[in-house]
Amino acid sequence: LPTETEKMMRAHELLRQFYHHILVNTNKGQEALEYLQQRNFTREIIDYFQIGYCLDEWDTSLKFLKAKGFDEDILEKAGLIIRGEKNNTYFDRFRGRIIFPISDYKGNTVAFSGRVLGNGQPKYLNSPETPIFQKSQTLFNFHNARVAIRKKQSVVLFEGFADCIAAFSAGIENGIGTMGTALTEEHIHLIKRNTDQVILCFDADMAGQNATLKAGEMLSNAGCVVRVAIIPDGKDPDEYIIKNGAELFKNVVIGGSIPFMSFKMRFFRIGKNLDNEGDRLAYIEKVLEEISKLDNAVERDIYLRQLAEEFSLSLDALKQQQRKIFYSIR
Ligand code: ATP
Ligand code: MN
Ligand code: MN
Ligand code: MN
Repeated sequence: LPTETEKMMRAHELLRQFYHHILVNTNKGQEALEYLQQRNFTREIIDYFQIGYCLDEWDTSLKFLKAKGFDEDILEKAGLIIRGEKNNTYFDRFRGRIIFPISDYKGNTVAFSGRVLGNGQPKYLNSPETPIFQKSQTLFNFHNARVAIRKKQSVVLFEGFADCIAAFSAGIENGIGTMGTALTEEHIHLIKRNTDQVILCFDADMAGQNATLKAGEMLSNAGCVVRVAIIPDGKDPDEYIIKNGAELFKNVVIGGSIPFMSFKMRFFRIGKNLDNEGDRLAYIEKVLEEISKLDNAVERDIYLRQLAEEFSLSLDALKQQQRKIFYSIR
């Protein structure tokens, strides 16, 4: 007899096929298909990522799975249906949403994320935590990207599914995404089993930049070599690719990624006026503190020289101050 886990995974697999079928083969999926096409999702990409659509009807998914022998208890536990106010009424969780299947690292579909067509709220609705799905241990596209990650010996980390998928269309096959949550130690553990070179490619808005700083620190502390891809004009990777094309994204944004330390030197300027002496001193002190955290003496030298040059300071004075900070923070 199948275990509960096996039943939940089987239900997800059947629903993934069902939702995909509705999107690509039926009239009721037409509007969702048009939404995706207007966002540059090709038929190939829709097939590759097995994107689907859940009808905007009360319990079509439930009826479909009941006919295949599943009962409500297990489907509710799997996060696929929701129990209504009145006892023993159930309805589909993802009604009227575009469905992005989420796999575990072995390739089993274990969750879905559903996006509204257009501007409704919430924009993305994820499966809840279930016995087969923990957000803190799941990375979007990880199963598919693994071969490319190992071959390239690097991984590109995105904030959103749309970004990860757009980057894949643009030829970035070693891209993965978090589940719209912060990066965790478990995520890092999964990544490090495959590579220690990570390129962060989050949204260019303030939330994305703050998340870059946090994720970069965690990855660096775990021994990864971190670079940051800079997207101009406050855009996200998907929007950048639509506006500027695949070649510029690959060669300029990803190809031109900068070391994490250089990202920090840019990040700590935000909101500071470096013509003002107080701000300038505070900035230099902050950068020296960051330089002190670098284990590599050559790297420390490179950034000290950059700082000396930019602010016309003596390298000796900077080195002296940096050593002082080094001993005060250890
Ligand atoms: P799209 O391009 O489809 O608008 P996005 O990835 O640009 O999506 P963002 O607003 O930048 O969307 O959010 C980044 C990620 O955060 C999303 O991909 C999703 O994983 C997660 N997210 C966003 N909004 C929500 C929400 N309301 N509930 C849960 N997760 C969300
Ligand atoms: Mn964002
Ligand atoms: Mn975004
Ligand atoms: Mn977007």
